Amino acid sequence: MDQESSKGQQPSQRERFLESNLLRDSRILEHTHSFIVEYNLKTKQCFIDPAQRQYVYGDWQEKIQQGCWLHADGADFKQVVLKDDIQKAEVFFDFSDLKAGEHREMDARFYVEAHTYEWFRTSLVCYADARGQKERVLITFTNAEQELETLKKLKFLLAKDPLTHMPNLDSFVHMTDGMIQSQKDQSYAVIRMDIDKFRMINQMYGTKEGDNILRYIGVKIQEWAGPVMELCTYCRVSSDVFCVCMPTEADAIAELIDFLQLSLRAYPLKFDMVMSFGVYITCEEDRREHISVSTLMDRAASAQRTVKDSYVNHVAYYDNVIRKKEIAEQIIVSEMKKALETNQFQVYLQPKCEMDTGKIIGAEALVRWIHPSQGIISPGEFVPVFEKNGFISELDHFVLRATCEMIRRWLDEGKKVCPISVNISRTDLYDPNLLAQIKECVAQFGVPHDLIAFELTESAFVSDNMQLYNLAKLLRENQFHVMMDDFGSGYSSLNSLREIPVDVLKIDLKFLPPSTDDKRGNVILHSIVDMANRLGLEVIVEGVETMEQAQFLLSIGCRNAQGFYFYKPMPVSEYERCLEG
Ligand code: C2E
Ligand code: MG
Ligand code: MG
Repeated sequence: MDQESSKGQQPSQRERFLESNLLRDSRILEHTHSFIVEYNLKTKQCFIDPAQRQYVYGDWQEKIQQGCWLHADGADFKQVVLKDDIQKAEVFFDFSDLKAGEHREMDARFYVEAHTYEWFRTSLVCYADARGQKERVLITFTNAEQELETLKKLKFLLAKDPLTHMPNLDSFVHMTDGMIQSQKDQSYAVIRMDIDKFRMINQMYGTKEGDNILRYIGVKIQEWAGPVMELCTYCRVSSDVFCVCMPTEADAIAELIDFLQLSLRAYPLKFDMVMSFGVYITCEEDRREHISVSTLMDRAASAQRTVKDSYVNHVAYYDNVIRKKEIAEQIIVSEMKKALETNQFQVYLQPKCEMDTGKIIGAEALVRWIHPSQGIISPGEFVPVFEKNGFISELDHFVLRATCEMIRRWLDEGKKVCPISVNISRTDLYDPNLLAQIKECVAQFGVPHDLIAFELTESAFVSDNMQLYNLAKLLRENQFHVMMDDFGSGYSSLNSLREIPVDVLKIDLKFLPPSTDDKRGNVILHSIVDMANRLGLEVIVEGVETMEQAQFLLSIGCRNAQGFYFYKPMPVSEYERCLEG
């Protein structure tokens, strides 16, 4: 029995009944941001269930304990009601003409903490005693603002992906976090997966069929995981990417992967569909440091990238090699801005030459990071990172500026000047100001446009190639030379030669290596050179490393090359000496 209600008297059976009712109600109300106060009209005392006290705002408790603040006579309620709402509160709390069985409701702003009032839905019911006389008033306070929050949360928790009806990413993150936090000693596997070449499936069979496949995978994951999301969470992340999180058991992970691969093979489509999986197993440190679910998913994604579109492996676990690579990436990201400001990036030049005479006909600007403690870092390590975080556009601009500055100096010094090409990253293509920036920079140094060329690379994405087409066209309209870089790599297509307006085709021997025992490879190379010649495109072969390669290239009608056999990328001063000598 609570002291506020009894003040020493023994409770009657009826009182006990009322209190047990109140207690039951309070359990129900526990999750609804509500609490009930009972006011005894005869004793003018208040009762509040001890279990509910935690839901009552600090100052209120004290006031409730003090007694009759709810009673209009006492007028104490004025201390907890916002001034604007006092008038209606006076009517609501005026119990003088309250009838047994009467019900009242009021929306008003109540004090919750210093200078803060929140909306409460307040309702009361007046109960009668055994003789039918009004005896008690039960007043329910429901914090409408918090209730709205709860509703939002519930809605969010139930948020589904409209296509597969699986939980969406937000609810997955929320549920997975809850699951991991509730079992702190348990290790979990976060498995990220997608279908190899899904884009192609969409293109070949239409997006409707693509959607059917995604729904089918959704059904299979749910079939495997079962309906209880407390034990295993899953979602469709986006497009064809799905994620599952479950307690780590090696057998279960392999089972899920086999089950999905087999299910996919059983799908009636004349296409050998395969999924790639990246697995991250949580460790104690993750739990201790409360590493976010999205970081765990990123790690699974890093593992998955190592096997994406591989013909041999379809499953990769996040391991130390990947962790080290990520740490190296983090260092790159954290230091890149300062490195640019402190001139740690330098432009190297690799001469391009006529193979039969050895004469230098131009050069490619290749950036190097001269790191104070790590020495020279090659662009292969940082360019992909910068392409991901967007810093590449700043770096490319820096390289262009440095190149223009260099050409200006040569012109001023009356030196021999050959055209220099700079690389434009695929991710720069979407910058609407790119052309204007290029023109402005070149104009600032008064560099004739035919001394600057731009190397562009095709992309696996059709939309990127539209941008590429536009940029190439605009650059050529402005009398700049445009080179198609890395022709022969996985991305380039013969069709693009017809569509994308370029002046020079750069064929990379890395992708099309000639060899004495690879006749077919040589025929392909020969044909590409022939075709380019007939299309009136200049050809330059890069990656030439041996005399045999150079001789073969000359024999098939290639005259110009860039490669270690002739020159390696070198500092500008060395290039100047090469030109003079
Ligand atoms: P890329 O534009 O195709 O540049 C040619 C790469 O081939 C250079 O590598 C060059 O050093 C290398 N190479 C040249 N001849 C040979 C050879 O005979 N054998 C071999 N094995 N390699 C040879 P590097 O300088 O490491 O650059 C790699 C890639 O990084 C470049 O490929 C380019 O895509 C990118 N990159 C370099 N500098 C920049 C830049 O300033 N901006 C952008 N966006 N990308 C750059
Ligand atoms: Mg290049
Ligand atoms: Mg290249």
